[in-house]
Amino acid sequence: MGQIELTLSTKKTEEMKQAYESMLKDAPEGALFAATTPNSSITAYESGKVLFEGENPEIDAEQWETPDAYEEKTKKAKKKPKHGYEPDPGLFNQSHIGSDEAGTGDYFGPVTVGAVYVKAEQMNMLKELGVKESKNLTDSTIQTIAKKLLQLEIPYALVILHNEKYNELQQKGWTQGKIKTMLHHQAITNVLKKIAPKEPMGILIDQFSQPSVYEKHLRAEDATLQNNVYFLTKAESHSIAVAAGSILARASYLQEMNKLSAEAGFTLPKGASAKVDSVAGTILERGGREELEKYSKIHFGNTKKAEAYL
Ligand code: MG
Repeated sequence: MGQIELTLSTKKTEEMKQAYESMLKDAPEGALFAATTPNSSITAYESGKVLFEGENPEIDAEQWETPDAYEEKTKKAKKKPKHGYEPDPGLFNQSHIGSDEAGTGDYFGPVTVGAVYVKAEQMNMLKELGVKESKNLTDSTIQTIAKKLLQLEIPYALVILHNEKYNELQQKGWTQGKIKTMLHHQAITNVLKKIAPKEPMGILIDQFSQPSVYEKHLRAEDATLQNNVYFLTKAESHSIAVAAGSILARASYLQEMNKLSAEAGFTLPKGASAKVDSVAGTILERGGREELEKYSKIHFGNTKKAEAYL
């Protein structure tokens, strides 16, 4: 048993009355009509209020809920705290810069950030190349697409923070949020320089922190937010520029991992799993913490777990 209440226009309630003509029953006082359907008992009032009660009130109610009201409701339910830096959806189809990072969750290997400027008229071409959310792409597909991307005349910037420098900054007290902030900032600055004096319609960052925190980190390093910067979570699924940045960042991370694996003499696994712990243990045994710091983000919990292997 359930109950659903809708508020509908007079026009809608008139439509309803006609639709349920064969199921009408005596209406209570003040009601426009009442009906019993196989799913629910419906009472509509002059105020526009309509009550659906019974076994499956949602089946009947759904038919009358206007798309507007439904959208409004789901929007409200999904509403996240606004930060004032959300892009207008129109930006996705305009010439803009997108940036995203890779490697932040991986124990081995660098953090990479890719920023790409995509002009409106290039968007279809990029889609044809297969540029899309990299989460749904395999590593080898990402590398293939990245190669093709780099052959195009698309202004981009890649910033790579190698492990030694990463560990140094981290030990200096930089959080990963601050590290990411400064790398995104650098990558975007580099692309802006490449396209100057042209300015993008906007700059979209795949959001990893509140914009106020991002700005706080910039201020601490005497940097300022560029014009028209927007933040959006899962931006790579909306913006082809962010998707392209994400692919370049990931491809660069993979390339660096190949180099590091060659240096280490065996394959360094991605991620931060138990496999990672055991490989870290092997390196520790061979070259101690000093060698491990060349390949890893040493502050991750994996280091402690690796030490337990010794
Ligand atoms: Mg991201």
